[in-house]
Amino acid sequence: MVDFMKNLFKLHRIGTLIWMVLNAAIITIIMATVIIPTALPSLPEWSYYVIGALFYFLCILAAISPAGEVIMRLLNGARKIKDPAITARLQPLFDEVYAKAKTKTPGLPDNIRLYTKEDDSFNAFAMGRKTISVNYGLLRASDEEIKAVLAHEFGHLAHHDTDTLTIVVIGNVIVGLFFVVFRLIWRIFSWIFSFLASLSANSFWGAFWTAIVSFGTRALIDFFLTACFSAWTFLGVAVCHAGGREDEYRADIFSCECGYTRAYLDFLQFLMSKEGKKRPKGLARALQATHPSTSKRIARVNQWLQEQGQLAQ
Ligand SMILES: [Zn+2]
Repeated sequence: MVDFMKNLFKLHRIGTLIWMVLNAAIITIIMATVIIPTALPSLPEWSYYVIGALFYFLCILAAISPAGEVIMRLLNGARKIKDPAITARLQPLFDEVYAKAKTKTPGLPDNIRLYTKEDDSFNAFAMGRKTISVNYGLLRASDEEIKAVLAHEFGHLAHHDTDTLTIVVIGNVIVGLFFVVFRLIWRIFSWIFSFLASLSANSFWGAFWTAIVSFGTRALIDFFLTACFSAWTFLGVAVCHAGGREDEYRADIFSCECGYTRAYLDFLQFLMSKEGKKRPKGLARALQATHPSTSKRIARVNQWLQEQGQLAQ
């Protein structure tokens, strides 16, 4: 059974893996053909590809660095807890679950932090490697339910479910930002040069408009390239989420294994009664893990309970 689950886990990651390999190839090729030759024209051509690949590797490192985590929290609206009353209530719950999760998975990072989000929905989310955020809406739940939900989020971090999404989204956000900033600076310089060059042959305004038109068309091409790249990144997110259901079931079981089965089932039952209400949108949603239908999750937890019972007999 364990082996079967492991295989399933690998299988559902194949789509993401293919996307990531293609992504690395696309970024390397764009860097090697569009960016590096303009920045470092004197180097041999093969070195463009080496530098391009190295560049993407550095972007991935930046994405999984504390700086990447900060970008992700900003994009997601996870903020430090400012209300001492909320800290007084949540921190002991968080510490208790953290200790249990750490016993179960000693490899969990040591400095996972708790944040809150001004969101009324009854939920929490994990991001990157060290971020767990509780929505204000979840504060309506009982302490036991909050612990059960926190254990689910620790499950995501323990299984590295959010690592892939971090590399896919934040890695590409950094690549995209670099591309836009580099091209903008490059375009402005080449615009000044082409303006000065045509100034000798044309009048001032003639040269000005010629340069503006060439700047405009090139900027339009860059804009198109950036739009294509963004669409490609969203495809990566979709592929990640397609394999994300198994991650949810596994995080649910993690919470049960930490000893919160009863409270977790209560939480899921309550969630089901509210199903179909508000869900995060856009990038915020893209950065979080998807949750499959609650009834299926309850069924999975019950199935797990039954298996535990059978093992005990
Ligand atoms: Zn989850």
